[in-house]
Amino acid sequence: MPTTHEFDSPMYNEAVSQFSNVATLMGLDANIADRLKVPQKSTIVAFPFRHDTYSEVETIFGYRVQHLTTMGPTKGGIRFAPDVDLGEVAALAMWMTWKCSIVGVPFGGAKGGVRVNPMELSRAELQRVTRRYTMEIINVIGPETDIPAPDLGTNEQVMAWMMDTYSQHVGHSVPAVVTGKPPALGGSIARREATGRGLMFLLPQAAAARELDPAGITTAIHGFGNVGRYAAVAGEQMGAKVVAVSDISGAVYNPDGLNIAAATKWVDENRFLEGFPDADFIDGDKIFELPVEVLVPAAIQGVITADNADSIQAKIVIEGANNPTTLVADQMLRDRNVFIVPDILANAGGVTVSYFEWVQDVQKYFWTENETVGRLREIMIRAFNEVLSITEAEGVDMRTAALIKGIRRVADAKLVRGVFP
Ligand code: NAD
Repeated sequence: MPTTHEFDSPMYNEAVSQFSNVATLMGLDANIADRLKVPQKSTIVAFPFRHDTYSEVETIFGYRVQHLTTMGPTKGGIRFAPDVDLGEVAALAMWMTWKCSIVGVPFGGAKGGVRVNPMELSRAELQRVTRRYTMEIINVIGPETDIPAPDLGTNEQVMAWMMDTYSQHVGHSVPAVVTGKPPALGGSIARREATGRGLMFLLPQAAAARELDPAGITTAIHGFGNVGRYAAVAGEQMGAKVVAVSDISGAVYNPDGLNIAAATKWVDENRFLEGFPDADFIDGDKIFELPVEVLVPAAIQGVITADNADSIQAKIVIEGANNPTTLVADQMLRDRNVFIVPDILANAGGVTVSYFEWVQDVQKYFWTENETVGRLREIMIRAFNEVLSITEAEGVDMRTAALIKGIRRVADAKLVRGVFP
């Protein structure tokens, strides 16, 4: 049993305990189970960051963790957040491994993080942090080794700066080194919307599993960034009634349904939801208690806890964020027969279209929007149905079934590759 104290943190311990429970249930080979508990490669960097006030130089921590190199290159987002640490990044890298495996894309999991609050940075500061962090990890990323993408606090522009920094370093353009880039640089059409749209493709499936009518189904979305915003747009397009969305400033609620295009425009112009007309402005946490049928946590981790799980009225929870539900809250929701589409399945649309982007960059042959969205839909629905059939065959819940599916493929690959030397 390897020592894992380097990664010790609530999120990592949760990821490992989730994995260990399922490994035991599956009767997973003990050597493989031990190996998969710890990431294969972890890079920690500390670098100077010059603020716009020229004399102010801060030391900043950055991380890149590659959980599994067995399946192909590693893949995973970069988050900029004020409290990110090695354990959090290691946990997210492990979940990326299962996620890639569930949707069948040929990557192992990775994740990156920079401990900085992006909301406090000017555009010039954000660019300097991004470029310096990219230089610090330049030897561990690459189109055939490890391919970053956006995550919490990062976006297409950050990916463009990462791609440019890497390309300047090697002396020629390498679009395939990151995904989630602007389309002008070889980014995939429909990558921006992919995570939110992908999870909403599963709404009719989840509704069917609970014998609910998806037309007009009332939905609340926690988070209105990349994932939450496009989940709201896709939900509205698919006929769901999105009654509440939230961001870090609070939540807006209209029981008759929000105008999502207007909310999106408001945030583009005013940065935050606060002040949005034609809706009540409520405390962000109150979104979890609203009388809705579907709840989509799509902001940060650890928001559905033992403290609020019993006040959730939704019959379906579709997890857009990574690890939004603590293990205890997960059990409490299941005890009340809430149907949970777990993060590693629900938000896998992001990595799926990132895979499409990488394939297009490598082949230098680009697909139409219809091809991209059609293939995303097919993969998401197939993965959902396969996970659902595991719940029936094994008598387990959706999260356990998704983990079984993810872990099984990785374990099979590890067994046939063997141990080197
Ligand atoms: P984002 O930075 O674009 O948006 C985050 C949203 O959460 C914003 O609306 C922000 O105001 C809100 N938020 C931030 N901190 C908050 C806090 N403390 N309390 C309440 N709200 C807060 O991030 P994103 O890319 O949409 O990612 C959201 C989640 O989805 C993360 O858990 C991320 O790991 C996960 N995810 C993202 C992708 C992707 O493609 N971007 C893919 C899979 C999973």
